[in-house]
Amino acid sequence: MSFKNTFEKYKWDLLEKEIYAITPEEVRTVLSKEKIDLEDFKTLISPAAKPFLEQMAVRSNALTKKRFGNTIQMYIPMYLSNECQNICTYCGFSMTNKIPRKTLSDAEILKEVAHIKKLGYDHILLVTGEANKTVGVPYLKHAIELIQNQFSNISIEVQPLDQNEYESLIEAGLYSVLVYQETYHKETYKTHHPKGKKSNFDYRLDTPDRLGKSGIHKIGIGALFGLEDWRVDSFYTALHLKYLQKTYWKTKYSISFPRLRPHQGEVEPKVEMTDSDLVQLICAYRLLDEDVELSMSTRESEVFRNNIVNLGITSISAESKTNPGGYAVAPQSLEQFEISDERPTEAIQQMIQEQGYEVVWKDWDRSFSTGNETINNM
Ligand code: SF4
Repeated sequence: MSFKNTFEKYKWDLLEKEIYAITPEEVRTVLSKEKIDLEDFKTLISPAAKPFLEQMAVRSNALTKKRFGNTIQMYIPMYLSNECQNICTYCGFSMTNKIPRKTLSDAEILKEVAHIKKLGYDHILLVTGEANKTVGVPYLKHAIELIQNQFSNISIEVQPLDQNEYESLIEAGLYSVLVYQETYHKETYKTHHPKGKKSNFDYRLDTPDRLGKSGIHKIGIGALFGLEDWRVDSFYTALHLKYLQKTYWKTKYSISFPRLRPHQGEVEPKVEMTDSDLVQLICAYRLLDEDVELSMSTRESEVFRNNIVNLGITSISAESKTNPGGYAVAPQSLEQFEISDERPTEAIQQMIQEQGYEVVWKDWDRSFSTGNETINNM
């Protein structure tokens, strides 16, 4: 049994019809409830819920403060490699793009880390493309071991792995894994992932299951908005979240909201997601789930990020470089995608504090770990 069994019970076209047929009266009924379930979530992400955005935002803010207090976590991505054997139509690192390829050596990793540590970070997200010969599990494990004494939290966003491979990385000091389905629309997924291991939709879909079984501390999921209708993709993401929470209840979860960004070899978004659509979605997630972490990257603009801080977001990245060695080794190399908010860490920290929030640099401390048991500090 895995999420695939649940996934197959739903039909994309039917969901789409249902979401677009929801009426304002149905939205009012949902908003009068104290507890929001998955069916209600569908109502809250519908076009009919748009006029109720302010009401949703007020409730989302209150729920987030109740659960997370006045805190925003900060993390930073570090790209280890841009080598990749996949073709993904929306990514600058796609195999067919003629760009210089680079994988960081130990010395280069440590140089990047020294720069990142000076900025104050204690939670790092390691990112690679999918190139098993150069950045397979041995490379990732070694990289984690190399830096594990410098960070409280090490997360990865890399190719999907097998359960035993995740277990070996957890042993080395891995804290969480981000793995986005990109789109839950099977045919569209095939169009955007025509070649390479990533073209296996089912293997990717079951990755969070393998992570849950491996006993990982936190799993991050999401869809890449622009490939398909964001509302239907978000319903599937929420369905995935609820399945995982029920099945692997010891694990924590986070949701990210990447929207397509400009990159080498561009693909135009099929479906536009506006800023107000994204706010609606963030609020709907918070109303659905008080505990889930909601994360916002530097893909979004300064203005948007300033305004979203008190609407339900709980973690945020800053000063991100999306190229290997981008901080200190090779700042001019080609990025995976262009970031939008380029402000330095200090400026983001100040923006967060000015809105009455405290910046938290780590999710939990390894010293809280007692054998297999871990205690969250959030
Ligand atoms: S999205 Fe990931 S797997 Fe796809 S081309 Fe880019 S780096 Fe490779």
